Order: sequence, then structure tokens, then C-alpha cells
Amino acid sequence: MNFVEHIGIAVNNIESANELYTALLGVAPYKMETVESERVMTSFFQVGKNKIELLEATHENSAIAKFIAKKGEGIHHIAFDVNDIESEMTRLSNLGFQLLQEKPKRGADNKLVCFVHPKSAHGVLIELCQSIKDE
Ligand code: ZN
Repeated sequence: MNFVEHIGIAVNNIESANELYTALLGVAPYKMETVESERVMTSFFQVGKNKIELLEATHENSAIAKFIAKKGEGIHHIAFDVNDIESEMTRLSNLGFQLLQEKPKRGADNKLVCFVHPKSAHGVLIELCQSIKDE
């Protein structure tokens, strides 16, 4: 894995969270994007080399809605940049990590993503992400 690509934070209301994080970080989100497959609205902040992703559920069955119902708002996942997501998935799977997808799926911010179950990582949901090259 190369570096922490972003930290994902689950929020109840992304509009008000955007305002607060814009004030906190001193920079506005550079993009907002709905990910239909995940039933989330996301926004991304670039803070120096690092990114923060805010996530609001767009449906009560969204993983974000379930997370907030259980734990409240807060840090939801840590995402790591990888060069080759399929080989990284194979590597982790062979080491006994439980992956939440069998194949990489399209995530926000032009990425292929796969999640590692928090049970496999001391309670932290880990996201692998590989940038999709622009064609
Ligand atoms: Zn993420």
C-alpha cells in the first residue's frame, strides 16, 4: 500500500458538515459526488497532501445510515492507495483478511475500491483504492 488516500467521516447532513469542515480546514470541498451503488452522497476536501471524505446516507439501507445508527457520526473508514487493487485483494485474502467484495467496484472520486471488514482490522473499516486512469 502506498499512502493514506483519504479518511472517510460519516455525517448526518452533508450540507451542514461541509460548512463546518470548510470553516475548520480553511478550504471548500473540491467535489461532491453521489455513489448510487453505495447509497451515499460524498464530498471531498483536499488538505495539503491529504483528503477528507464526508459521507451522508441517501437511503436508510445505506451502510452509512447503519453505521450512524449504531455508532453515531464519526470516522468511518481509512482508505489506502494501491497500484493494483486486484493483486492487493488477492494478497490480503491469502493472509486471511475478510474482504467485503469479491471484485473491485467503482467508488467515488474516480477510484476502484474494495473494503476490508473491520473484524479483520481491529475494528477499522479499511478501503483499498486504485485511481482509474483517464482514457
Ligand atoms: Zn472512502
